[in-house]
Amino acid sequence: MGEAVLHPHSMIVAGNWKMNGTLRQGRDLVAALELLSEVQVILCPPATLLADLSREFSRNNLLFAGQDCHAELQGAYTGELSAEMLAEAGAKSVLVGHSERRQYYRESSKMVAEKARAAARAGLMPIICIGETLAERETGQTEKIIADQISESVPEGWQAQEFVLAYEPVWAIGTGKVASPEIIEQTHRYITSRLPAGSKVLYGGSVNAENAATILGLPYVDGVLVGGASLKAESFNAIIRAAHKQSEKK
Ligand code: PEP
Repeated sequence: MGEAVLHPHSMIVAGNWKMNGTLRQGRDLVAALELLSEVQVILCPPATLLADLSREFSRNNLLFAGQDCHAELQGAYTGELSAEMLAEAGAKSVLVGHSERRQYYRESSKMVAEKARAAARAGLMPIICIGETLAERETGQTEKIIADQISESVPEGWQAQEFVLAYEPVWAIGTGKVASPEIIEQTHRYITSRLPAGSKVLYGGSVNAENAATILGLPYVDGVLVGGASLKAESFNAIIRAAHKQSEKK
């Protein structure tokens, strides 16, 4: 079971640095962040930076997370990292099923569920990512794809406090094409209806300093997962501030 590392009433602002950042850049970026109450910041730096950054900067409202983990505890899996290794390096959470992993490394939802279980076994809070492609949305399959991804990627019987779900439409990731507020609200409502009551659902896909307040103000949105805009303190701080404002309203 994952340790309950998240405060139930906080907005979540997660930053996925992907394959970006040296230790020096990472330190400068984290040191420049403005942490605010009621906003749980989760940073996912490259795994090589986890130990140093988590030791130097971890606190109640700033946690570090892996970007992926292997489902097995150990073994002959060259280049992979287990959830336990990430936990030992100071991670408290881990992304699983990010669309780049699904797309470039052919990770299936079944594999994602195994990774989520491995994360929980290691005491990490899994952030389970799902989302439809543009072709799937345009052919009216979004709800079916999402329902299937949820039922296959979220381990059976899990309760709300055991995971966070991130809805990231594939067509909005790294493209600058943010989903409209209507699409986000409608899809989050649907996702929420398929999850245990109280589950946290983040939106991800081209979130930036300009659109964060609108997105975070929508019903059924408990936070954001940010890629590109998490690499600059100025834009990430603006998103943290937007989350802080919304947490006061919600
Ligand atoms: C992501 O990688 O999860 C993401 C949402 O990226 P971006 O914000 O750059 O679209």
